[in-house]
Amino acid sequence: MVGAGHAGLAASRFLTDRSIDHVLLERGEVANSWRRERWDSLRLLTPNWQSRLPGFHYAGREPDGYMTMAEVVDFISEFASVARAPIRTHTEVTSVRPSDEGYHVRTSAGDISCRSVVIASGACNLPSVPALRSAVPATIEQLTPFEYKNPTQLPEGGVLVVGPSATGVQLAAEIRRSGRPVLLSVGEHVRLPRMYRGRDVLWWMDASGVWGQRLEEIDDLTRARRLPSPQLVGTPERATLDLNALQTIGVELVGRLAGVREGRLLFSGGLRNLFALADLKMNRLLDTFDDWADAHAHGLDVGGCERFEPTRVPASSRLQIDLRSGEIRSIVWATGFRPDYSWLDAPVLNEKGYLRHDGGVVDAPGMYALGLPVLRRRKSSFIHGIEDDARDVIDHLAGFLAHGRRRGR
Ligand SMILES: Cc1cc2nc3c(=O)[nH]c(=O)nc-3n(C[C@H](O)[C@H](O)[C@H](O)COP(=O)(O)OP(=O)(O)OC[C@H]3O[C@@H](n4cnc5c(N)ncnc54)[C@H](O)[C@@H]3O)c2cc1C
Repeated sequence: MVGAGHAGLAASRFLTDRSIDHVLLERGEVANSWRRERWDSLRLLTPNWQSRLPGFHYAGREPDGYMTMAEVVDFISEFASVARAPIRTHTEVTSVRPSDEGYHVRTSAGDISCRSVVIASGACNLPSVPALRSAVPATIEQLTPFEYKNPTQLPEGGVLVVGPSATGVQLAAEIRRSGRPVLLSVGEHVRLPRMYRGRDVLWWMDASGVWGQRLEEIDDLTRARRLPSPQLVGTPERATLDLNALQTIGVELVGRLAGVREGRLLFSGGLRNLFALADLKMNRLLDTFDDWADAHAHGLDVGGCERFEPTRVPASSRLQIDLRSGEIRSIVWATGFRPDYSWLDAPVLNEKGYLRHDGGVVDAPGMYALGLPVLRRRKSSFIHGIEDDARDVIDHLAGFLAHGRRRGR
């Protein structure tokens, strides 16, 4: 198994239940991504009661709260010890190559042969930054969410945050509250209220079955896998952090960053259309929740239907900013993350560098993946989503070990 995040640990639990000999190879420590690759103020956007792993769940006193990074690390580390996962920490996998027996795995601490490999190395190993980054003048400080820890790192002056999904809206709000002028460059996004009809919106995602939808129930899988993360933040106040909330605290919205030419940032127009689309999709999802509540939630304590103010379109939005004017001193690229398979020496990646798999069954005998977006269900890449996926994938793996190659997921 490559990786000791929650996905690798969940798979390990099912392997142990079946007495299948295995080892987890982890380049850092348990929950390494949460320890090393997140910013200081980050909390989970999923509520505590939703943090559950196979045979293990949040048992603290604040089920409706949202874990800090230290709490997430403790939660996952505790699961690792309860599950008695056989982990080798500080062991980086540098190559996985098909061999006569299965796979030859090279690590920073020696080589291993195995019949099967589970790739649980994460979907967010690298920040995904557009190539136009290289056209930004050297006088402008540029940070990715892996480098950004808190606003004190940034030079005084204006900040452009690129990307309106969970990371972008959270960083834009935090930097604005530090007193700096902030512009947020907005492309396609997923708007959600934090609370709906008196419950956390993610309660509705769970209860209505939207999050549990399986691959065959999803019309456009490629699109579902590329969907940006929702505009949500976990705060003790359970506050909504949509574009209206950002405008209220003084964040200026500009369109999608389309280019950098001769020291000028060029933004697309069309905010009105972008906002209308995000509002429409949010309302459709809320309709789904309402329909579910009408059919199933009798006797449940949920409030009446609500609709939210449409996203406010600024009177005018700038299409250009001259970086030589000194107005913008730094850019934070909140433009997404991608996996890193530079260590994988097997022909299993597509032309964009993503794994070819069917529900986690990789296109190579005995090779599996977990923790990728919409791997088997909409919830696949979230902590609470791993249990069902890991059970299915390890079931398939056990069949492979017992009977050899199996087709289909
Ligand atoms: C900013 C951010 C916020 C998120 N917030 C939430 C949230 O609120 N709720 C939620 O449910 N989910 C959230 N997620 C999604 C998801 O839960 C996390 O991405 C989670 O870390 C994924 O778990 P994982 O086990 O699949 O991967 P990871 O936690 O990334 O674990 C993979 C492990 O593999 C190790 N590894 C990688 N390559 C190698 C190698 N070559 N050799 C050895 N080891 C290797 C890494 O060190 C790491 O420990 C968030 C993700 C991000 C990026």
